[in-house]
Amino acid sequence: MKTRTFTIIKPDAVAGGYTGKILDMILADGFTIRAMKMTFMNRNDAARFYAVHRGKPFFEALSTYMTSGAIVVALLEGEDAVDSLRRLVGATDPRNADEGTIRRMFGTDLTRNAIHASDCAENAEKEWKQFFDEKEIVEVDYSPCSFE
Ligand code: GDP
Ligand code: MG
Repeated sequence: MKTRTFTIIKPDAVAGGYTGKILDMILADGFTIRAMKMTFMNRNDAARFYAVHRGKPFFEALSTYMTSGAIVVALLEGEDAVDSLRRLVGATDPRNADEGTIRRMFGTDLTRNAIHASDCAENAEKEWKQFFDEKEIVEVDYSPCSFE
């Protein structure tokens, strides 16, 4: 069944010039982009987005990193979207991520791991609603056959 998930190309990957390559991997995996933009997080945005991690030892480093530069956020649709994207993204620590995953290819360490992928459908919806208004979500079918 087609479902939705949310992703963030994180500041290290945007600054490194990997946005296009990462989006290519996501599209090649069969996802449709339903909303996307370049933006940034301030400290309040990061605290809200990572509320579950507040109080953890890495929270300060995570906040500093996520507010350090531009990010690209996207709402993705695909078969079994949450789990498929997490498989493509790989383990949290890029050094432990499988060959061919986005984090293995573009991440550096536990903090600078290139990309976020939601961990369940409920959190995905909360997360994309932090960045997108209803009217920014593109519901029209723009697959190649729609031009025939
Ligand atoms: P994810 O779902 O794989 O992104 O991992 P989590 O939800 O557990 O953590 C959120 C983000 O916090 C990760 O993507 C990392 O950027 C960062 N993070 C998680 N655990 C650690 C840690 O032990 N040390 C550091 N420095 N960063 C961490
Ligand atoms: Mg997580």
